[in-house]
Amino acid sequence: MDYDVIIVGAGAAGLMTAIQAGFGGLRVLLLEGQSRPGAKIIISGGTRCNVTNQTVSEKDFNSGKIICVRHILRSFSNTDTIRFFKDLGVELTIDSEGKYFPSTNSGKTILEALLGKINLENNITLLCDHKVEAAGRDINGFFLKGEHFRFHCKKIVLTTGGLSYPATGSDGTGFRLAQSFGHSMIDATAALTPLSSRDVDFKNLSGITIKASLSLLIDGKKHFFTRGSFLFTHLGFSGPAVLDISRHWIRAEGQKQVIINFIPDHDEHSLQSHLCLLQQKAPRKTLQGVLDELMPKRLAEVILKKAGIKSDLVMNQLDKGLRQRLAAKCVHYPLDITGALGYSKAEVTAGGIDLSEINPKTLESKLEPGLFFAGEVLDVDGRIGGFNFQWAWSSGYTVAQALIKQL
Ligand SMILES: Cc1cc2nc3c(=O)[nH]c(=O)nc-3n(C[C@H](O)[C@H](O)[C@H](O)COP(=O)(O)OP(=O)(O)OC[C@H]3O[C@@H](n4cnc5c(N)ncnc54)[C@H](O)[C@@H]3O)c2cc1C
Repeated sequence: MDYDVIIVGAGAAGLMTAIQAGFGGLRVLLLEGQSRPGAKIIISGGTRCNVTNQTVSEKDFNSGKIICVRHILRSFSNTDTIRFFKDLGVELTIDSEGKYFPSTNSGKTILEALLGKINLENNITLLCDHKVEAAGRDINGFFLKGEHFRFHCKKIVLTTGGLSYPATGSDGTGFRLAQSFGHSMIDATAALTPLSSRDVDFKNLSGITIKASLSLLIDGKKHFFTRGSFLFTHLGFSGPAVLDISRHWIRAEGQKQVIINFIPDHDEHSLQSHLCLLQQKAPRKTLQGVLDELMPKRLAEVILKKAGIKSDLVMNQLDKGLRQRLAAKCVHYPLDITGALGYSKAEVTAGGIDLSEINPKTLESKLEPGLFFAGEVLDVDGRIGGFNFQWAWSSGYTVAQALIKQL
């Protein structure tokens, strides 16, 4: 037997599993297909790496087995994450939205701190350029093999990630390895990805960010709601609110429509009342002037154009019909969405290995004892805000504790 445990994939989940298992005295081999480990840690959060959030619960995630997600998050919480990095010498700072980043504002700090514990002193060997192509059992226990290697071990952990940003190494091989052990998949799609549009007026606003709320309607019924930053891009729409709604839009079946509220502190009724009040208080004010106080000037121009209202119209010329039309365009505007940008721009993968075939307390396979999973390879995806890394840390920790107990 070469190793107690072989972990496949040195991303966030694999590094956490290796460190915790090594701390527990296990002989660990960490195999990474790329020439360097932890590629996503470096590019994440706009290279700042949003490692966790002030409040984390299963409600921040999507999964076929949300109870399992709750259990795993409780076994290693966001406060455990903060303490863990502090012990590694990394101070985390919190922003106004409750997101934690290293105080250096660099994902490299996180990766270097993790790699600082990946060494023989902690019983961990890391081999890069070792892409695992097949795994199974033979008379020597589990084997893992690639183009130029074959290793044996007592336990395997698959931390191969999903399909998002394949250039970082997560190309779906992990799904195939799991399937070779008989595991089923919940259909995978891109998530946390920008949406594309044909709307030239909005594309011309590329670079402008606003606060907005978005509702996803499926066959006319509200299916998902989110509120946050919204970014106009040259291809369509992005920003946290769009990324959060994308997985629901992509996975929805039926007639789907995204409605945006450009002034999320108002609904149609309150905006109309506001306009009525302004008609009395400032009858000579132009509509452009009124909207400029509620949104960026260039967006106001586009809204007036879309409402078919001249920008130099003054408030006392606004009749009830125009007022209703303008309010509707501002707070209930159906966006033209033609698609999603897909895995190449997706921060995470929705779907993955079906949790119903996995022990919810240890993340060990129910089909193949000794085979474990952690991280994005599983059917768990979080919203924007540090939740996906928290899942990687929590699930990696959980698996390591189970391995230590068994070995
Ligand atoms: C641009 C971007 C920004 C992001 N920003 C944030 C953020 O700020 N906060 C947050 O919480 N989340 C963020 N995420 C999501 C987060 O990075 C992932 O959810 C997390 O990294 C998943 O960790 P993982 O270890 O499960 O998988 P991965 O990080 O994908 O790691 C999997 C590893 O396995 C290796 N591998 C795959 N197959 C094999 C094989 N057959 N043999 C050997 N090795 C293999 C890969 O090369 C890779 O190194 C971001 C993602 C992206 C793409």
